[in-house]
Amino acid sequence: MSAPLFPLFADLQGRQVLVVGGGAVAERKTDALLRTGARVRVVAPTLTAALAGWHAAGRIAWREAVFEPTELDDAWLVVAATGDRSVNRAVAAAAEARRLLANVVDDATLSSFQVPAIVERGPLQVAISSGGGAPMLARHLRRQLETLLDDSWASLAALFTRQRHRIRQRFPRTADRRRFFEKVLAGPLPRLFRQQLHAQAEQHFLAALDETAAQTRGGTVAVVGAGPGDAGLLTLNALRAMNEADVILHDRLVSEDVLRLGRRDATYLEVGKSANGHSTRQDDIHALMLEHARAGKRVVRLKGGDPFVFGRGGEELEFLRAHGIPYEVVPGITAAVACAAYAGIPLTHRDHAQAVRLVTAHCKDSLDTLDWAALAQERQTLAVYMGVAGLEGLRDRLLAHGRAPSTPFAIVENGSRREQRVLNGTLADLPETARSHQVRSPALLILGEVAALAGALHWFGQPPIGTAHPTHSRNLPAPTLQAA
Ligand code: SAH
Repeated sequence: MSAPLFPLFADLQGRQVLVVGGGAVAERKTDALLRTGARVRVVAPTLTAALAGWHAAGRIAWREAVFEPTELDDAWLVVAATGDRSVNRAVAAAAEARRLLANVVDDATLSSFQVPAIVERGPLQVAISSGGGAPMLARHLRRQLETLLDDSWASLAALFTRQRHRIRQRFPRTADRRRFFEKVLAGPLPRLFRQQLHAQAEQHFLAALDETAAQTRGGTVAVVGAGPGDAGLLTLNALRAMNEADVILHDRLVSEDVLRLGRRDATYLEVGKSANGHSTRQDDIHALMLEHARAGKRVVRLKGGDPFVFGRGGEELEFLRAHGIPYEVVPGITAAVACAAYAGIPLTHRDHAQAVRLVTAHCKDSLDTLDWAALAQERQTLAVYMGVAGLEGLRDRLLAHGRAPSTPFAIVENGSRREQRVLNGTLADLPETARSHQVRSPALLILGEVAALAGALHWFGQPPIGTAHPTHSRNLPAPTLQAA
């Protein structure tokens, strides 16, 4: 086991660096070096088009030759990127003799310095190294960090750099400075940057700097859309919020796969309807959010799909605003969009549908309040949420208002999840088909010509059950079980 490397960030501004090699790898390294302000000289018999362009523009020097040790005389660093091991070895040996640090690309044993994988947020750089032994692992970690560190880090780093002198003046002692930074970072500052409220962020920071008394640390609520189930459909912002959360209040609709990605030591509370039919009242959800936010916690209110599509996200925001709790909203992929995509059903289509309506129809009252004449119009797609129980009423009203009995439908049950099922049929037989296949919640109804395309365009899970042939028969097998 070799000794650990000494990590170091080098100031190369105006300093001579030699790059040996003129291929694609040399081009990448040269690009990275130029961004640090280094003066780069390339030695190689030929150059890539980009390197040649930089040379023509005077951005790099070029010696059209093979490597010779004297090339190193005026260099601070050398990078060997030739792909020819004997040349690389000669470069490494010459550098060693001159006590110059050399990096041989992809060859840890020949290198006396390594170039780390980097995550960059403005002036902030995170460098990752596996000591050259496991570069793939370092790259993997880099990708994870990329998703975790949002852009607010760049703004924070820039702000702290700008205000460096004032901070030092205000808190000459290191321990006080540290406490101050911890306080502002735990407060609203990162969120204000994420919300692109830069002026407010700056104001807040300056106020915190002037503040003599310790501020009380207030909690926040992020109302987050968890998408339909497939964890791959989470947004990076959702992932970040879930990783920072102290408390996660989630609906039952949120999948296990998604919950697994949340912060390990967060407190998870299920607040939606549960399997035994008990549900947390909206007022209780509000009270829980308030209680935890007032205790200074970062609360994530995690909802299936999108929080603003039949998710009561609006009411929750109104409540938070009324109680002065700062909040942010992370949209999610709503069931209509996800179910359509995962069933191969384009919601709009130039030949079939120019509009989509998102409707909910979970009880008779909600059915009665809908504008059926508008819903029955042709050349549009209906996406009906929570509709499994009210299908009879839905069909009868649509037919009564003139929608053709042959209009195709698709029911997507457990859209985007491993258990996804798609049923195809026509409006005339909609409730009977759903019942005979014992469709269960969560399921979404897509009604309109586009629904028939699932047969040809499906790509996820099992092909759709049933066909969307026009049929007027209502004499399907007698239902055995009530649809959920
Ligand atoms: N806010 C959510 C909707 C909540 S209402 C969203 O934007 O998706 C709950 C209804 O959404 C369910 O009854 C069902 O109709 C639909 N739904 C949610 N997730 C679903 C899924 N994975 N598959 C099918 N339907 C789903």
